[in-house]
Amino acid sequence: MGNLADATRFVHAGERRTAPNGVPASTPIYATSTFVYESVEDVERIVEGEVSDFVYSRYGNPTVAAFEDAMAAIERGSFAFAYGSGMAALHAALLACELAPGSVVLASKDLYGATFELLYTIFGSLGVKTITADFSDLEAVREAAEKNKPRALVCETLSNPLLKVCDIAACAEVARGVGAKLIVDNTFATPFLCRPLELGADLVVHSATKYLGGHADATGGVVVAREEFDRPALLGALTLAGGVLSPWEAHSILRGIKTLALRLERQCSNADRLAEYLEKLPEIESVIYPKFFDGTDAEVVDRTFHSSYFGGIISVRLREDTRETAFRFMNSLKLCTRAASVGDIFTGVVHPATATHRELSPAKRAAIGITEGLIRISVGIEDVEDVISDIEQALYVAGLKEISVAVGAGHAEFAGAVGN
Ligand code: PLP
Repeated sequence: MGNLADATRFVHAGERRTAPNGVPASTPIYATSTFVYESVEDVERIVEGEVSDFVYSRYGNPTVAAFEDAMAAIERGSFAFAYGSGMAALHAALLACELAPGSVVLASKDLYGATFELLYTIFGSLGVKTITADFSDLEAVREAAEKNKPRALVCETLSNPLLKVCDIAACAEVARGVGAKLIVDNTFATPFLCRPLELGADLVVHSATKYLGGHADATGGVVVAREEFDRPALLGALTLAGGVLSPWEAHSILRGIKTLALRLERQCSNADRLAEYLEKLPEIESVIYPKFFDGTDAEVVDRTFHSSYFGGIISVRLREDTRETAFRFMNSLKLCTRAASVGDIFTGVVHPATATHRELSPAKRAAIGITEGLIRISVGIEDVEDVISDIEQALYVAGLKEISVAVGAGHAEFAGAVGN
């Protein structure tokens, strides 16, 4: 640093050390927007694609790349690109299907509310038409596809919040038959339960904010593609629209993935116990949980999920199917959080009609079965007996239960003062 002035030293001191020979056991957070090379020619070779390396973090960052590699590996895809949120990932996946004015998207009528809004508002304003079908009815999907010749079909492995399942392999065949791409949002199922690419989907999308991260401390999204997918189309949607994932978030989510199987095992077994408990409650009209599906839906679960678990999410419809009752019950919970997300380590409840699907008109919500007394429960990794005790006490406090029948349900001495 010779005789440089303080102001110059302050900028450069300690930076650009030679990389260590030892490979870090855990991918470091490359908190850098840009990368420095010895010569301009070095940079040019990278930009031209002659050499694979990093220049500028919107075009690639090592921490983000590690997360993308992890996703391609766990979804058994060919490559993956990470985005700043699940919605950015869905936007990119749709753009990569080369939608143009006049193109049609065939969407499951049970999609997450914001995905509909994305299709209707942003893609709608570009002249893309969205039509819907019940993806749990394969014939309805086939008929709509053959009649409307869509460019893309979009569905969720387990829909939000009604947990509807669709036969991904059969939908992939329908998509291929009309020359369309099949996009599957695998956020709720995760590759622990289902790997849509192996069943023939073209693109898998995740809100990494949910199970992948799993700790409510990172927002992100990812698209994983099959080998044949047009890589530049997906990359362009990333680098030009610019919705990249930050290396900080990538690091948190990558760390989350390491315990995904452990967390999911616990969340699924907790959900199983909780669903069985809820099923017996007279205050609850119906418990929506894939374990309880029958007929074709049960067969689809069997064919589509490679795991013997049924997921960590349960939706319940209260017998008093009103917003007022749902709010009273939810506000009485002391342990379970009223958090607007799913897949976290803690148990959380959401009121879909006023949260995830609030943008839909009441008529549209009613048409897809999102009634005012519907509550979605994302089961965490706590001791499930404490969760049961909390639900039990909330039913009393909310006036839904009148006499104590709590014997044997949950931990008797639950103090109920944890959480919000
Ligand atoms: N897909 C599903 C199924 C979701 O539930 C959500 C968010 O709740 C998203 C996508 C959007 O994800 P993000 O909030 O990370 O943008």
